[in-house]
Amino acid sequence: MGHFGLSFTGIAAMCFSFFVVTAAVVSAEAAGQGLSTLPYAESPDKHFHPRGKPPSVHTLEVIRKARETLPFADRRDFEEAEKGFIAPLKSKIIQSDAGPTAWDIQRYEFFSEGRDFDSIHPSLQRQSTLNQITGLFEVIPGIYQVRGLDLANITFVRGETGWIVFDPLTARETARAGLELINATIEDLPVSAVIISHSHADHFGGVRGVVDPERLAAGKTEIIVPRDFELHTVSENVFAGNAMNRRLFYQYGVLLPASPFGHAGQGLAQNVAAGAIGLLPPTRVVEEPVEEFTVDGIPMVFQNTPRTEAPAEMNTYLPDQKALWMAENVTSTVHNIYTLRGAQVRDALVWSKYISRALFLFGQEAEVMFASHHWPRWGNDRVQEVLKDQRDQYAHLNNQVLHYANQGVTINQIHNVYEPPKALQDGWTTRFYHGSPQHNSRAVIQRYLGFWDANPATLMPLSPQDSAPLYVEMMGGAENIMARGRALHDEGKYFLAQEILNKLVWAEPANQEAKNLLADVFEQIGYQQENPGLRNSFLAGAFELRSGIPGGASPNTSGPDIIGAMSTELFLDFIAIRMDGKQAAGLEVAINLITPDNGEKFAIEVRNETMTNVEGFLHENPDLTLTINRTDLESIMLGQKSFIASIEDGSATAEGNVDVIGQIAATLTTFEIGFEVFPGTAREKVAGDLTPYAVADESSYIRGE
Ligand SMILES: [Zn+2]
Repeated sequence: MGHFGLSFTGIAAMCFSFFVVTAAVVSAEAAGQGLSTLPYAESPDKHFHPRGKPPSVHTLEVIRKARETLPFADRRDFEEAEKGFIAPLKSKIIQSDAGPTAWDIQRYEFFSEGRDFDSIHPSLQRQSTLNQITGLFEVIPGIYQVRGLDLANITFVRGETGWIVFDPLTARETARAGLELINATIEDLPVSAVIISHSHADHFGGVRGVVDPERLAAGKTEIIVPRDFELHTVSENVFAGNAMNRRLFYQYGVLLPASPFGHAGQGLAQNVAAGAIGLLPPTRVVEEPVEEFTVDGIPMVFQNTPRTEAPAEMNTYLPDQKALWMAENVTSTVHNIYTLRGAQVRDALVWSKYISRALFLFGQEAEVMFASHHWPRWGNDRVQEVLKDQRDQYAHLNNQVLHYANQGVTINQIHNVYEPPKALQDGWTTRFYHGSPQHNSRAVIQRYLGFWDANPATLMPLSPQDSAPLYVEMMGGAENIMARGRALHDEGKYFLAQEILNKLVWAEPANQEAKNLLADVFEQIGYQQENPGLRNSFLAGAFELRSGIPGGASPNTSGPDIIGAMSTELFLDFIAIRMDGKQAAGLEVAINLITPDNGEKFAIEVRNETMTNVEGFLHENPDLTLTINRTDLESIMLGQKSFIASIEDGSATAEGNVDVIGQIAATLTTFEIGFEVFPGTAREKVAGDLTPYAVADESSYIRGE
C-alpha cells in the first residue's frame, strides 16, 4: 500500500452504501428513509419552523377555488378504499429490528380529523386522507390486501397450500407485520409463492419478511419475477447515486416534519418504510411477453410490461377469479414520466400501449382490478373506465406535448402550455399525485429532444453564480430587488418574485434576508401544489434557505443481498466515477482482475485521468493481476475486508506490483450527501441557528437499517 490512508475496503464501503440507498430506496420510486427521523410537528395548527408562514390570501384563494371546482361529490374512491375492511393494523408504528422506527403512519393522523387545511391543496389532502384508510381488506374472497404499512400494498392470494404474496413491501419488518396480520385474522398459512411485480425496492425489499429460508431451500416457496428483474434491481441508480440521494431531500421532503405545513403525504401513500431491505434470487422468471402457468394451484396469466413504470415490470391476471393485478402500471394517480430525484425519463407512449394491451387481453372480462398502491376497482365498467382513462392520459402526454413541440414549443415553455384533457381533470382517475403535468410534459420533450431549446443563448449559458451579479447590478442592487421582490410576494406573483430573488441569492449567498424572502415565496408556491413532489421540492427549498442543510454524513448500512445482485463490472465502473481525474493525472496502471468462480475476467486500465474496464479480456503485461473468487470479492464490495487483507489471508492472489492499489485509492473521492443546492445554505452559512428540531443524528437522514 502507498502512504495514503485509503484502502479498497473504504472504497467498497462507500460504494456499497450508495448502493443500498440508491438501489433500495431511490429506485423504490420512493425515499422516505427520512421517515424514521421526521419528527412529529407539535400541532397541525402550528407551523413547525420559526420562520414559517401561514398560507397567504393569494394561496387561500387558490385553495378555495380548488375546493369549489374539483368533483368532491364523486365519492367512489372513498367507497373503494373502505370496501372489504376486515381489521385495523395492529399498530400504526413499527420498530425496526435494528432499533429505530421502521414505520409510523400515526403522524399523518391529522388527515383523519375531517378538517380542511388551508396549507394543503384540497386534491392532495383528499388523496392523503384516502391513503390514511388503512388495515386488512378483502378484495374478493381469497384475495386480501394490507394497506398503510408502507409506500406500497402487500397483497395475499389464497393458494392451494398457502399464501401467494404479491409485492412484499420495502422492509422485512413491515412485510412481516402484514403477514402476521393476515395469519392472525384470516388463516394461518405458510407462504407458498411471492410474485414481485417490478424492480423497485418498495415491491421486493421486504421479501425476507415473508419467505421462510428453509421452505425456500426445500423448493416449497416460489419467487416469480418479470423478465430482466435482477438486471434492473440494482443497476438503475448507482452511477449518479449521491446526487439522487441529495435530490430526494426535495422530491420526498426528507427534512420536513409530517404536518399541514410540511410533509403532507407522498401521493402513492404517506411515505416509505425504513428497515431491513433484502433481495432473494427468483425461482422463476417470466420471460415471454405473455405467459400462463399455475402458482400454488391458481391459474395466472403474466404480462411483461418492460419500460413502463419500471424497466422490468409485469401485470398478472387471475382468470378463475376474473381479477386483474395492474402492478404499478395503473394506480390512483398519474405516475412519473420524469422522477424529480433524477432518473432517466420514461416512455409515456409505451406505457399507454401496455395499458391498452391489458385492457384488451384481460380488461374485457375482469370484474376487479387491484394494484400495488391505492385501492381496488370493482365491476367491469369501473375497471374499463380506469384503464381507459389512464391509457388516454399517458397517450395524451406523449401526443399533445410532441404536437406542441413540433410547432416550436420548447422544454422551457411546455409546462406552461400543456394541459391534461379537461374531461379527465373533471374526475379522479387520472390526477397527478406522483407525476405532475408540469414535470411530465417537460420529460416528454427531454426524451425526444433533450435539454436544449435551440436558442444559442441557452446552449452553453453562464453558470448561475456568474450571471447573477450582472443581473443584480443592472436591477440596481439588492435593496431594489428586495423591495420589488417583497411587492411581488405581497401581490401573490410568486413566480415573478422567485425569478429576481433567485438571482439575488446566487449573487449574494450571505444575504440571509434575501434567502428568507425567497423561502417565503417558495413556501406559498409549495402550499398551492396538488402534486406532492412539487410541494415537497418548494418546501424543502424554503427549509434549506431558512435553516441550512445538515452536514454531510454517509450512509452506513450493510446488505449482502443487494451487493450479491451487483455485477463486478458495475462495481468497477462506480470506482471509476469516484476517481478524481486531476488527482490521477499521469497515473498509468494496467490491472487484470480474474474471478474464477463465475468465469469473469477484466482488463482494468488507468490512463488519461480516468479508469476503464472491459470484461472478457486481459492485459498481456499488466502491472498487477488479482485473482479472487466473486464470492470472496463480495466481502470487499461490502467493505468488510480489503484487497490487501484478502491477499494476506490467501483468498486473493496477487502477481505484480501491489502498490498500484494504493495509488488508485489515493485518487478516489468520498461523495458527501450534503452539498449545497442554493449557495450559502451549508449549515454554518445560515444566519441564526433556527433549526426547529434536533438534527443531531445526521447519519439517520439516510437510512441505515
Ligand atoms: Zn411502488
